[in-house]
Amino acid sequence: MKAAVIESVGRAVVTEVPDPTPGPREVVVEVAACGLCGTDLHILQGEFAPKLPIVPGHEFAGEVVGVGAQVTEVAVGDRVAVDPSLYCYECHYCRSGHNNMCERWAAIGVTTAGGAAQYAVAPVANCVKLPEHVRTQDAALVEPLSCAVRGYDVLKSQLGAHVLIYGSGTMGLMMLELAKRTGAASVDVVDINPARLETARRLGVSGTAGNADELDRPQGWELVVDATGNAAAIQDGLGRVAKAGTFLQFGVADYATRVEIDPYRIYNQEITITGSMAVLHSYERAAELFAAGVLDPEVFISDRLPLTEYPKALEQFAAGVGRKIVVVP
Ligand SMILES: [Zn+2]
Ligand SMILES: [Zn+2]
Repeated sequence: MKAAVIESVGRAVVTEVPDPTPGPREVVVEVAACGLCGTDLHILQGEFAPKLPIVPGHEFAGEVVGVGAQVTEVAVGDRVAVDPSLYCYECHYCRSGHNNMCERWAAIGVTTAGGAAQYAVAPVANCVKLPEHVRTQDAALVEPLSCAVRGYDVLKSQLGAHVLIYGSGTMGLMMLELAKRTGAASVDVVDINPARLETARRLGVSGTAGNADELDRPQGWELVVDATGNAAAIQDGLGRVAKAGTFLQFGVADYATRVEIDPYRIYNQEITITGSMAVLHSYERAAELFAAGVLDPEVFISDRLPLTEYPKALEQFAAGVGRKIVVVP
């Protein structure tokens, strides 16, 4: 089959690799679409993935074309979205419900072959069947949405909160859509890229700005979400949290990124600084929300490129052009 392969640091190609075969409790999925995200760029830079070469792609959906001997829950012809998380279920963190902190953390498309290929293997336990009205290609968005759902899970009730989101790429916009539906009193979005703010406005926001100074909330925001991973944005956002408010580190920063915190203010104003990592018991709910229309795929997916253009798709994503880019085998 054809697959994208990150061969070594900085080098992605599309090549022929052997067709996958399913284990007893696994299925083979014919990939309909696979999304690209920051994680793929980190892998390309030599971070995250413990071993190269790797077939990337952890955001995918497709049709089941083969099942292992002990699979009864799904059948050939079923359309599924795939949760990429591979937990050990044995370590301290798994046994205490924090599976995304698993000591043997692994994921399809990060530590094992992923969905940027014609076919991918997944445990049947990771497959969520798609209802009839959901297009298989669009369901590549369920995985990033499940990260946004996890982001909301770490927060206390946001009913009536004023929310400020840094970054209006795919993840920032997903946080925006969830904020609107979890009872935010207002949602403002900051991005240094005006073209991206245009999409935020299209989805409906209270305010948009290139700098939060332009937004009139001197008392700050009860919830500030960083969806950029950028040091300047994080530093700015930390200073915008209202008294008793929460800062959520949702964007993926580079390992070396550092910002300053103000311990006195954290103490005196009871500021919470927290983070959310990937997916935790949130994939099914994301699939339900997706099927319920929480996102418009036509807005969120800006580019559908052929799998053969995977290296170009990565470059385009790295340049910050468009929103969610998916490759179609
Ligand atoms: Zn991702
Ligand atoms: Zn574990």
